Amino acid sequence: MDAPAPLDAEIRRLIAVAGPMPVAEYMGLCLTHPRHGYYTTRDPFGRDGDFITAPEISQMFGELIGLWAASVWRQMGSPDNLRLVELGPGRGTMMLDMLRAAQVVPGFRGAIVAHLVEISPALERRQRQTLNGLDVPLLWHQRIEDVPDGPLIVVANEFFDALPAHQAVKQADGWHERAIGIDADGSLIFVTAPAPIPHFAGTLSRAVRDAPDDAVYEWRGHQAVFEIARRIVHDGGAALVVDYGHTESECGDTLQAVARHAYGDPLETPGLVDLTAHVDFQALATAAESIGASVHGPVPQRDLLLRLGIERRAAALKPKAAPEQADAIDGALRRLLDQGAGGMGRLFKAIAFAHPKLGVLPGFES
Ligand code: SAH
Repeated sequence: MDAPAPLDAEIRRLIAVAGPMPVAEYMGLCLTHPRHGYYTTRDPFGRDGDFITAPEISQMFGELIGLWAASVWRQMGSPDNLRLVELGPGRGTMMLDMLRAAQVVPGFRGAIVAHLVEISPALERRQRQTLNGLDVPLLWHQRIEDVPDGPLIVVANEFFDALPAHQAVKQADGWHERAIGIDADGSLIFVTAPAPIPHFAGTLSRAVRDAPDDAVYEWRGHQAVFEIARRIVHDGGAALVVDYGHTESECGDTLQAVARHAYGDPLETPGLVDLTAHVDFQALATAAESIGASVHGPVPQRDLLLRLGIERRAAALKPKAAPEQADAIDGALRRLLDQGAGGMGRLFKAIAFAHPKLGVLPGFES
């Protein structure tokens, strides 16, 4: 058998002392534990890594988002001190592609300070390598709260799915939080808290409240959305969030472990595999609206990219590319747009939050 994951012993110790550990706490430790967290210790992206994301599939993705940001900057009245904030920048690829593409918009690059919000020292190092030598000032922060005030555009691809999610199971007497315990033979197992969460049903949508017994509901704290919305409303700007998940709040256990491009057991090898849960776009929208931001979308990733002109961009790149590269461009286009299994076009969605005066944002025209 493989050696136990270093985080495994620590999680068992915490459970032995404090009792079953809520799923959100487990997910947070697995991903961002300061010494043994999945993101803290590695660069998981790419064909040779554990999973691949849209900006790693094709430069077209980041380029279109860069042009999106430049047009939103113009809609904002072209402020000369824009904070371009990326949450969870991974390898820094999307920021690099955004800044290159946005060169075509006069004045935009000169107006930007780029702020990279990244919790992982390993990935911060990787981002510094990717972005080394750029003529745009770059600053790193561990939390969005640490970005200085001022007009801002925020972008986040596959960031929210990596934030800790709680789970609760519906039973006859109410919703019980799901947690991780240890069974008689010493394995980590899912358990449910003995008492229901007080007054929980009152916070749920009707569709979720009416779910059958044993349904699993997932939710996250929305500090990051509240903070983004507060800044947008106060200082001006917008945010674009792309991720996978559901348009409306619904039940379903979506906690998943991925390593080497395959699904695994979320309770095996904690800290050594990626853990995510789907994003509830309705919950994001409600959080942003409650602070006074206007909400655009969600729209399928396919619609966003088509409206931003991905087909034109592919057609412009292909004549300059060698034949294998031209095939790769077609393959990337399919992967980013396809609505069937294997494609990202339908499961992935985009939502934007904006200052109420900004009007319709590119990609969200109805
Ligand atoms: N946007 C990139 C990477 C997505 S993976 C891409 O599309 O390729 C998630 C990213 O969020 C990683 O960079 C990870 O280290 C970072 N991250 C995860 N949890 C975080 C947190 N709580 N605060 C800041 N960054 C976090």
